[in-house]
Amino acid sequence: MQSTLTPADIGSKAAAPAPAAPPLIEIDDLKVRFFTHDGSIDALEGVSLTIPQGKTLCIVGESGSGKSITGRAILNQVPRPGKITDGSIRYYRTAGAKPVDITGLDPRGAQMRAIRGGEIGLISQEPMAALSPVHTIGNQMREAIRLHTRLGKKAADAHAIEMLAKVGIPRPAERLNNYSFEFSGGMRQRICIALALSASPRLLIADEPTTALDVTTQANIVDLLLGLQEELGISIMFITHDLGVVAEIADEIAVMYLGKIVEQGDSLSIFRDPKHPYTKALLRSIPTFTRERGGRLQTIKGMVPSPFQRPSGCTFHPRCDAFMPGICDRLVPWPVEPQPGRVVRCHLHADRAEIDRALGGRA
Ligand code: SF4
Repeated sequence: MQSTLTPADIGSKAAAPAPAAPPLIEIDDLKVRFFTHDGSIDALEGVSLTIPQGKTLCIVGESGSGKSITGRAILNQVPRPGKITDGSIRYYRTAGAKPVDITGLDPRGAQMRAIRGGEIGLISQEPMAALSPVHTIGNQMREAIRLHTRLGKKAADAHAIEMLAKVGIPRPAERLNNYSFEFSGGMRQRICIALALSASPRLLIADEPTTALDVTTQANIVDLLLGLQEELGISIMFITHDLGVVAEIADEIAVMYLGKIVEQGDSLSIFRDPKHPYTKALLRSIPTFTRERGGRLQTIKGMVPSPFQRPSGCTFHPRCDAFMPGICDRLVPWPVEPQPGRVVRCHLHADRAEIDRALGGRA
């Protein structure tokens, strides 16, 4: 089934197929479990994905899909009581050298501290929480720059001014002496972006960075990130539930549901020809300029289930329009490649003989 989006609705990024880029990060079969008083919960159930160098990968899905946990795992900062229990996160730190497995590093060790903040930056949904209210913007930027570079105080200040100017803060030299509460929400998010980029990271993880902002400011921040990526050539992992933003910014898309990637591929092919019923349902639920007058947006039936009550087989089956009884509620879908560069976990795309074999010949 075709998406209702047209090329006019899809942003410039998705309007042309993205050329293949070498990987910066390769996540393989990553598992994260939360150990609570009520039992353990699998937050990530074998996530595999690649973040290409110099491209934007958008991770999309409803709340509770595991998007943010995936970002935190890359920073080796899974919040307690969570723990990485299996899998690897290979980071190609130096060209031509063997990658570093982030899951094998001490989260508080020197190597991980150099990577986190220095080589992989983070901007989050709530800039107020990321900025200290008791230190000036200048002090916070100077400290971040000097932690990850060899710059002296004067050079660090000059670099901070340069970064604030780059993200569009007017009179940046003067504003170094201001506190975070003296800025608007949009300006605070720009400062967080400047802070995250001040050590020249190779990857920026942007975790719902526009969710708390009004529509106009959201658009400005998305434009800013697009411009900075083009100028600096960094990779961006953009975590969002907003497919409108994804259409603007993504080179690659990974769709998550209940701790698994259910579909991944290049942005244009996913918007034009989504394969997984969950991706199709997400696309039907976004407004487009081309929707017919009076045409109704469709919501996805039901809710994301509690991880304590994970449905059997395909975890999307209670909400899926294409549910096949006896198959979808019994077999966990495995990854299939319906076309080069696309990976989908859905029995609609699996080989029927393989399904029969998995069911023991009883289907
Ligand atoms: Fe729907 Fe079955 Fe595919 Fe799951 S495996 S998405 S229930 S068709």
